[in-house]
Amino acid sequence: MEDQFSEKIQMVDLKKQYFKIKPAIDSAIQNCIDNTNFIKGPQVGHFESSLAKYLDVKHVVSCGNGTDALQISIMALGLKPGDEVIIPAFTYVATAEVIGLLGLTPVMIDVDPFTFNINSELVLEAITEKTKLVVPVHLFGQCAEMEGIVSHCYANEIAIVEDTAQAIGAKYIFDNGKAVSAGAMGDFGTTSFFPSKNLGCYGDGGAIYTNNSDLARKARMIANHGQEKKYIHDVIGINSRLDTIQATILNEKLSHLNTYIYNRQEAANYYDRELKGIDAIEIPFRTKKSTHAFHQYTLKVPAKSRDDFKEYLSRKGIPSMVYYPIPLNRQKAFYDIGRTVGDLSVTEDLCQRVISLPMHTELTEAELQYITKTIRAYFN
Ligand SMILES: *Cc1c(COP(=O)(O)O)cnc(C)c1O
Repeated sequence: MEDQFSEKIQMVDLKKQYFKIKPAIDSAIQNCIDNTNFIKGPQVGHFESSLAKYLDVKHVVSCGNGTDALQISIMALGLKPGDEVIIPAFTYVATAEVIGLLGLTPVMIDVDPFTFNINSELVLEAITEKTKLVVPVHLFGQCAEMEGIVSHCYANEIAIVEDTAQAIGAKYIFDNGKAVSAGAMGDFGTTSFFPSKNLGCYGDGGAIYTNNSDLARKARMIANHGQEKKYIHDVIGINSRLDTIQATILNEKLSHLNTYIYNRQEAANYYDRELKGIDAIEIPFRTKKSTHAFHQYTLKVPAKSRDDFKEYLSRKGIPSMVYYPIPLNRQKAFYDIGRTVGDLSVTEDLCQRVISLPMHTELTEAELQYITKTIRAYFN
């Protein structure tokens, strides 16, 4: 039973992760407070260059959160109201929201039934003369099929912004064998340091990556009120920054990111091994074209039993989440501004069937054993 554990099983366990690195984190935070350089302290630039090195990209521009990162990127590309942006219908709302805020038209297309990521063949079908941008989302920690997207976009002079909020540290493997970090293939990559993300800070944070120096300069300007020199405002910008305390925490946590990803992959391997024999459920598909950072471990279960199964898990002390229950095109906010292409049947099916299990860096073997045993008991 669940009372075999000293603490309840968590969907994401940030506390245990913190306690493992507490002395380093505490002294880094105290150091910031002692220096009172809360905004634009040297740790911010230090983190940007460490992350750029980790990802092997030329520029990282930090900002306030992952949603701002998307907005700043799209502003830097200079899109005009009415321009169309192709996005997957199965994703978090932030992706579509900033498109709407900027007066652009989100064109929502279906996803791949196995990877849950934007279907690259449908991208080609959705392109019109108004299409200026595609935003693939590397959902749940695995890269979208970028080979096709990169070639369609290149041929049609369309920009790419990769939403990497869930896949920092994942790598896409091109047909020629070249492995490139998620977020480093498009004009921009964007990410979020929301606490539960794979590289999370202790509040809000985000970043933009690019290999294009001109775009990096524009993004940095837009994030800082459209100014490069103080009180000289060349474009309309916003105020979006990563504060020094968050940067100092991220500097520390970046040095553990590979271990964090490894721990998630080990937990996923355990789940795979113990759940793959159950006929009623589908374990996460792993494409050979990407490594998987396992932001989420998401099962497909029969639609008719999904909600009952979730209830059952909850009664047994096992948290779970449905990412995402409603597709973007059926959200009222997008009725008037968006457009869909095709029937979105895969997205609809996934919304009925997906369920994500506890996934974090601190799952123990005893917890994984209990979770998988409990799941097997339900389906047998
Ligand atoms: C978390 C997330 C975002 C937004 O990040 P915030 O930091 O919460 O603004 C954007 N896109 C995806 C896919 C996300 O998972």
